[in-house]
Amino acid sequence: MIRIGLGRDLHRLVQGRRFLLGGVEIAADRGELGHSDGDVLTHAVIDALLGAAGLGDIGEFFPPSQPAWKDADSLKLLEFTFAQVKQAGWNLVNLDCVVVCDKPKILPYREDIRASLGAVLETAPDAVFVKGKTNEGLGPLGDGSAVEALAVCLLEKNEDSPKTKDSPKKG
Ligand SMILES: [Zn+2]
Repeated sequence: MIRIGLGRDLHRLVQGRRFLLGGVEIAADRGELGHSDGDVLTHAVIDALLGAAGLGDIGEFFPPSQPAWKDADSLKLLEFTFAQVKQAGWNLVNLDCVVVCDKPKILPYREDIRASLGAVLETAPDAVFVKGKTNEGLGPLGDGSAVEALAVCLLEKNEDSPKTKDSPKKG
C-alpha cells in the first residue's frame, strides 16, 4: 500500500530570530517568528508525514499552548514524528519540498538541507528534494516579511504487516 501526504506552513520573518530550513541555519537579517524554533520547512514535512499516515497534524502532536514546545528544535519534533510513522508500519519512499520567499536564495543551502532532512528520515540522499521559488516580489512572501513551505511525501507499507495478514491474496 502506498499513500501520499501534503504539508504546508507559513511563518512571519522578523529581526532577532534565526532563519532555519530543515534544521540548516540560513544567513539572513530576519528569521522565522514562532513558538518553536520556527523552522517552516520542517513543519511542512511533519504535516506531510502525519497526513500520509493518517495520524493527525502538527497542531495536535505539538500544541503551541504547551510550554514544552517553546523554542523547540523542530528536527527533534520531526524525529519524534517519523518514529510514530514508522511504528505505524510506514516507510518513506520520497519527499519533495518547495520553499517560497524572494530572499534569501535557497539554492546555496539546498544540499545541506537535503542532507539534514535525509539524516532524520534515514533515507537515501536522492529521496529528499528541496526547491526554492520566488514570489516575484508580490505580497508578504515577496517583500521578505514571510516564508512559506510546501512538502509532499510518499509512504509505503509492507503488505505483509499484521493488519493485512488475513486478507485473501490473489493468485
Ligand atoms: Zn510552523
